[in-house]
Amino acid sequence: MRRLETLCRERGERLTRQRLAVVRQLLTAGRALSAYELLERLRPEDESATAASVYRTLDFLIELGVAHRLESQRSFVLCSHPQTPHRVQFLICRRCGEVVEAEDARLAAATERLGDRLGFALDRRIVELTGLCGRCREGGAGAP
Ligand SMILES: [Zn+2]
Ligand SMILES: [Zn+2]
Repeated sequence: MRRLETLCRERGERLTRQRLAVVRQLLTAGRALSAYELLERLRPEDESATAASVYRTLDFLIELGVAHRLESQRSFVLCSHPQTPHRVQFLICRRCGEVVEAEDARLAAATERLGDRLGFALDRRIVELTGLCGRCREGGAGAP
């Protein structure tokens, strides 16, 4: 939260009610949320929220570097280390939805080399891996 306030101040951007509310919802959810899930959660407090305004807010937060879009899930998470450059990997649990943001330098370098080798100028270097988190694996097949 404080980080968000600082970033907004530095950029001369306003920390609007909806921007704050979206960050708060993502914080309390503790997992990735889709734009529509966010909209549902915002509506009770803010009748003016629309899908378009939620998308605009998310774009703003992504541009600011405090949130990420998970392409494979069509959802959004808060960044767990907004102060560092981003060559990150996401590990996404397909059962409970937990998202872990990892930063493996070797994997990042390998991704870069792969782009070079195949002649791709990469503009998005985020790797998304899906599977079962440790907790869900321990819970076994019968766990929710
Ligand atoms: Zn991040
Ligand atoms: Zn899980």
